[in-house]
Amino acid sequence: MPTFVYMTRCDGCGQCVDICPSDIMHIDRTYRRAYNIEPNFCWECYSCVKACPQHAIDVRGYADFAPLGHKVRVLRDQEKRMIYWKIKFRDGRVKEFDFPIRTTPWGSIKSPSDYAVPDASGLGAPELAHEPTALEVEALPMLPPSGKTKV
Ligand code: SF4
Ligand code: SF4
Repeated sequence: MPTFVYMTRCDGCGQCVDICPSDIMHIDRTYRRAYNIEPNFCWECYSCVKACPQHAIDVRGYADFAPLGHKVRVLRDQEKRMIYWKIKFRDGRVKEFDFPIRTTPWGSIKSPSDYAVPDASGLGAPELAHEPTALEVEALPMLPPSGKTKV
């Protein structure tokens, strides 16, 4: 279900380019509009759809598993700090959800280069670089030594 851009709505601001975790939203050099350079690598994460201030991005369902036409619409309301989802199922049912936008301000998350270079001894540890500090928790949940999770 790759994304596509309505060219007449896009103003080339580049927010979708900045946020795409798959790095596939690019700005066309001739037309100065965004486009998905590699639809097969789209994670369908909807990050670009939510980020686009012009509501210029949509996600196309592949016909093999969405043959009867479902619809997923998402709208980010920056003033109310809410994300609104509207899901239309193939049988006509409609479900709507809304969620608050995360509380971290836009652009405030530190990049890896803002952290100190990790110690090489961390290569033998189970945590990823800068965990758990970057996750703002004291420690990651761990399995007990038996390997069985407690219920
Ligand atoms: Fe990138 Fe996610 Fe948008 Fe796909 S849905 S183009 S992976 S931001
Ligand atoms: Fe165009 Fe929207 Fe991407 Fe901005 S975020 S470049 S308006 S598609």
